[in-house]
Amino acid sequence: MNIIPFNKPYLTGKEGHYIYQAVLSGKISGDGMFTSRCHKFFESRFGFKKCLLTTSCTDALELAALLIDIKPGDEVIMPSYTFVSTSNAFVLRGAKIIFCDSHKEQPNINEGLIEPLITERTKAIVPVHYAGIACNMDKIMDLAHKYNLYVIEDAAQAIDSYYTGKDGVKRPLGSIGHLAAFSFHETKNIMSGEGGMLAINDEKFITRAEIIREKGTNRSQFFRGEVDKYGWVEVGSSFLPSDIIAAFLFAQLENIDDIQQKRKKIWDAYYKALKPLQDKGLLQLPVIPPYATNNSHMFYIVCKNLEERTGLIALLKQNNINSVFHYLSLHKSPYYTSKYQGHELPESDRFTDCLLRLPFYYELTEEDVTFITNTIQNYFL
Ligand SMILES: *Cc1c(COP(=O)(O)O)cnc(C)c1O
Repeated sequence: MNIIPFNKPYLTGKEGHYIYQAVLSGKISGDGMFTSRCHKFFESRFGFKKCLLTTSCTDALELAALLIDIKPGDEVIMPSYTFVSTSNAFVLRGAKIIFCDSHKEQPNINEGLIEPLITERTKAIVPVHYAGIACNMDKIMDLAHKYNLYVIEDAAQAIDSYYTGKDGVKRPLGSIGHLAAFSFHETKNIMSGEGGMLAINDEKFITRAEIIREKGTNRSQFFRGEVDKYGWVEVGSSFLPSDIIAAFLFAQLENIDDIQQKRKKIWDAYYKALKPLQDKGLLQLPVIPPYATNNSHMFYIVCKNLEERTGLIALLKQNNINSVFHYLSLHKSPYYTSKYQGHELPESDRFTDCLLRLPFYYELTEEDVTFITNTIQNYFL
């Protein structure tokens, strides 16, 4: 019997060809031909003011923390149900993380709980668009304006997903906050093995972002002929990927519509097959708020409790199906609890114990989905 993995990176077929072209061009360090093509693709398709590829989303978040000048003692608000990189990026600069609970129906930050967490030390809010489903950005941006805070979207999972605001305008995720970080890790919809991008929407950050990304030098301006020598002008690091990575990424971007359509089909098939179990109250399916679109990044179910999830993972495993749980509440992590006393965040803990991600990748077949959902049915019925 063949094994159904949790994830399987999809290759469009052009990756090797573009990598070869990059190699032949003789310029395989950062900011070559393919990097520039990727930047243009994102800026024109999604309307981000400025895009900068990075070596990961983790890096893009660290670059964002440097850009907004996080200093020791600053506070940053984010959900507890997220990946460690969301918080590490700010902790590295000395920030204290203030964790906020998730919604009851879905893991995104509950925007209604943010305001009481704001103090005069708060510098930023970092909404994470879990599973590519938008957070309530109007509420979050209103709070940011009211208290003069930055908003950095963790859009790692949110490529090609949208948010419709009160004004009726549909905006791509990553184009709403001051800054946004995307991931092209091999588990994401569009990937380059490792990879990421910072999207800059507040123009005042553009010049410094280029400098910080290039070791604190004004090399980008130098290559554009804007300055006649380049030197050390800021504290920075090296956040830019080789053009080989960008070549791989560009092959994926050219096929984004095909990839997204295929993923949507898989998502819909899961939803349809599992809906009867939700109707019987046996499990909870993803909830997509009216202001959000679904980019089919992930399919998850929420079990009633930890025991049920553990049993289901075991049964799926017996059938050679690899399902995985996801984040562990960061406010309960050994690192955080050794330094701070977090509040109780019951919804975050519930997703920690009960959320289960099902296999999801381009090449997953309809038969696979049927087999997986039948196995889940057998567990419950
Ligand atoms: C994948 C992911 C990251 C990290 O992305 P890398 O590119 O692996 O650094 C950060 N935040 C979230 C929400 C993610 O899903």
